[in-house]
Amino acid sequence: MRKLLTPVLIFCTTFLFAQTDQRIYDIINAVSSERIEKDVTTLVNFGTRHTLSDTISKTKGIGAARRWIKSEFDKISTTCGNCLEVSYQKDLVKKDANARIVKDVEVVNVVAIQRGTKYPNRYIIMSGDIDSRVSDPTNFTSESPGANDNASGMAGTIEAARVLSKYKFESSIIYLGLSGEEQGLFGGQGLVKSAKEKGWDIIGIFNNDMIGNIKGVDGIISNTDFRIFSEPVPPTETERERNMRRFYGGEVDGISRQLARYVHNNVKTYMPEMNPMMIYRLDRFGRGGHHRPFNDAGYAGIRIMEAHENYTQQHQDIRVEDGIAYGDVLEHVNFDYARNLTAVNAINMASLAWAPPAPQEVKIGGIVEPSAKFEWSKVDGATGYKIYWRDTTSPTWDHSRYVGDVTEFTLEGIVIDNYFFGVSAVGKDGFESVVVFPNAIMRN
Ligand SMILES: [Zn+2]
Repeated sequence: MRKLLTPVLIFCTTFLFAQTDQRIYDIINAVSSERIEKDVTTLVNFGTRHTLSDTISKTKGIGAARRWIKSEFDKISTTCGNCLEVSYQKDLVKKDANARIVKDVEVVNVVAIQRGTKYPNRYIIMSGDIDSRVSDPTNFTSESPGANDNASGMAGTIEAARVLSKYKFESSIIYLGLSGEEQGLFGGQGLVKSAKEKGWDIIGIFNNDMIGNIKGVDGIISNTDFRIFSEPVPPTETERERNMRRFYGGEVDGISRQLARYVHNNVKTYMPEMNPMMIYRLDRFGRGGHHRPFNDAGYAGIRIMEAHENYTQQHQDIRVEDGIAYGDVLEHVNFDYARNLTAVNAINMASLAWAPPAPQEVKIGGIVEPSAKFEWSKVDGATGYKIYWRDTTSPTWDHSRYVGDVTEFTLEGIVIDNYFFGVSAVGKDGFESVVVFPNAIMRN
């Protein structure tokens, strides 16, 4: 009996670690709705955070707002032994760059980097927006609280930094405040340009834009529903890649979609009380957000946001009209809900930053054969790999098999034609990379 016990115990422990990790529950529990409420209130009290608003005043306008955000990150950093590298990233945008830029403006983002111990140049990013607007997008003086759009996302990002800065991660995490969103996604564009110049290896961005409203204009009230927007395939794909998809599949399996599936799966595992809705599109119909500049440049990026929007409380002058109170004011933000969506971000950033990188190349074979075959590039830091598959009509990776520390495997009896497949890398604590859809074909 004794002889048997040890291997069985080891097996059980490994198995348990692969399922859940207590630190993820600790992270969820550490996110505070009170602190988010305090920070949203502070942001609202800057009067307006319009991109073209005052930058001199100590109490009003976007200048004061971004200095406060930087000071919060600095404060967090001093409590974690200077674990955050905090800086501004800025670009001058000239008058008439578009109709919403009515004067020259310095678009300034606030960047806080928590440096990874093993992969310092790999980054998972959480962003919120600093700026706000009213009905007229060029009005930079009127009261524009932007409590939900997007002080909620900004406050969530600061709170995630407070929580995650207590831990050390293998990959880097960036907490990002972006400006110029309402004027045409200028902050995101500037940040992407600078990331390209620095050669950042970006795992993906979680763009949080409106994470605090639970009462929809459709009459639905839900504090559990939320949306994960992801585009199907990157706009940067080549004509050859587009053509390959006709024969090998992948229409709904781009890198942003895999990131969305990762978040969806993690939420189902660790926060079963929430209802993540994967939305198969870049963003809301005809509308935009700050993950797009990242997608435009070929990086994975998703938008995380409330499921039931209220259009009378976005981009509105504060007023009462026909008995309806318009305006994006503090009273409409549900801080417990914002807390939960902040936790969604935090656990996924932690999981990705504790996981090894995804395999770069994944080859698939098995044409006119009874079994699907795989070969993938070895990942430094991976202790094993997992092959996923699903019915071609399923949105989620429903089947998986952990195959250990090998770089090729045959799934006996699984016919290549009837499923979609992917491979992830697994690290020592069971944390996994994003799933990689096959990007090369084995002919035999
Ligand atoms: Zn907006």
